[in-house]
Amino acid sequence: MFEVTSASQSDIGRVRQINEDSVLEAGNLFAVADGMGGHQAGEVASGLALAVIGQYIEDNLGLIGGEKLVEKAISSANAAVHQKAASSSKYRDMGTTVTLLYREGDTAYIGHVGDSRAYLYRGGALRALTRDHSLVAALVEEGEITEEEARVHPQRNIILKALGLEPQVEVDVVSVKIEPGDVFLLATDGLTGLVDDASIGEVLASADEPVAAAGRLVDRALEAGGPDNVSVVLVSFKGSETLVPSREARAYRPAGDEVPGAEGSGGKGGRRRTTRWIIAAAVAALLVAGAVGVAVYFYNQTYYVGARDGMITLFRGFPFWDLGMVERRTDTSVRFLPDALRRRVEGKLEPQSRAEAEETLESLEREAARNSVYVPDVLGKKFSQARADLEGLGLRVESVLVSRPNIAAETVIEQSPLPGARVGVGTQVTLEVVMPGAPAKEV
Ligand code: CA
Repeated sequence: MFEVTSASQSDIGRVRQINEDSVLEAGNLFAVADGMGGHQAGEVASGLALAVIGQYIEDNLGLIGGEKLVEKAISSANAAVHQKAASSSKYRDMGTTVTLLYREGDTAYIGHVGDSRAYLYRGGALRALTRDHSLVAALVEEGEITEEEARVHPQRNIILKALGLEPQVEVDVVSVKIEPGDVFLLATDGLTGLVDDASIGEVLASADEPVAAAGRLVDRALEAGGPDNVSVVLVSFKGSETLVPSREARAYRPAGDEVPGAEGSGGKGGRRRTTRWIIAAAVAALLVAGAVGVAVYFYNQTYYVGARDGMITLFRGFPFWDLGMVERRTDTSVRFLPDALRRRVEGKLEPQSRAEAEETLESLEREAARNSVYVPDVLGKKFSQARADLEGLGLRVESVLVSRPNIAAETVIEQSPLPGARVGVGTQVTLEVVMPGAPAKEV
């Protein structure tokens, strides 16, 4: 097949105090990640993301493959970074980009989130395999600014998507059929923000081995000032003569099977045909029975999160054609989720294992908890105290003055919604408050 050689280099650069980039070369997996966040959180985010991705791929080898494996590995890294970020204030808002190459046979799967990049150098030409999820890339695509302007744009560091910022992330995955001579480059923006594609192509053309090319690429970024951490991973695929099968593969034909049309005519042939049809029908029936068994098996192993009666719900089974059974309905309403997420949950999330689906459910409940409160009981309280209690929880307060002859002025006598109701942050609570002064008569 291929003789694979790779090299990676990660340099702190000339300005930064710490290196928040991480790189990975492990078997068929290669990756760069560019972390962000205060103090050393970025370093934690990029390191954690690559560790989770490596572990996920190792754990799921042979179970799932290709595009799905890459997507799920990156999604699980997203969840891990997001969870870590929520665990402590020192990690709050941390995140990381990730760009990886996972090779399966003669296919390279490129997974990507953020503004690190993957390139393919083939036949003397450099081709970008990823699209930056950055503000300037969006501006370039919309024709607002040019590539050259993007390179020096004041907002060039703003990225629109990264791992860890949201409970779920959409992952770009593309696949490339590998050809002998292909060289793949993964790099953080510490390289690509300073060294243009033409210079990268020049280095790759001049270097035979990944180690030399990686060193020269990092040198170019440092020569350009090295304002950021610089990380590169190079993977080279050369054709390997010794492993190419020497004989041509021959079309397989089972013994005893006859070429159609070459069969003898008459009763004997007819009976044989009939017998074969009976056997074929029996085999088909067995296959169908087998497929049903397999389907039942997968049905029982498949879970997904969706909505039932407006509540976030865990289902078992297949999400299509409403084939899922309610496994557990939470008492958390989908309306406490941010709009985009709510729509996705209502449209059913993708199937997962039970453990994954439970995790998804929990992260959705946490998200809903952040956006909702239980209305406290303020009946009988003085209005100023009731208002402070409600506003302290992020609720808005409206008061309606009413007269009640035998109740102290400013006492809250009605509230809507009622105590214990779960409402979104910012919801208005209406209070009926006893009017001060001596009323003439009741309202
Ligand atoms: Ca960077």
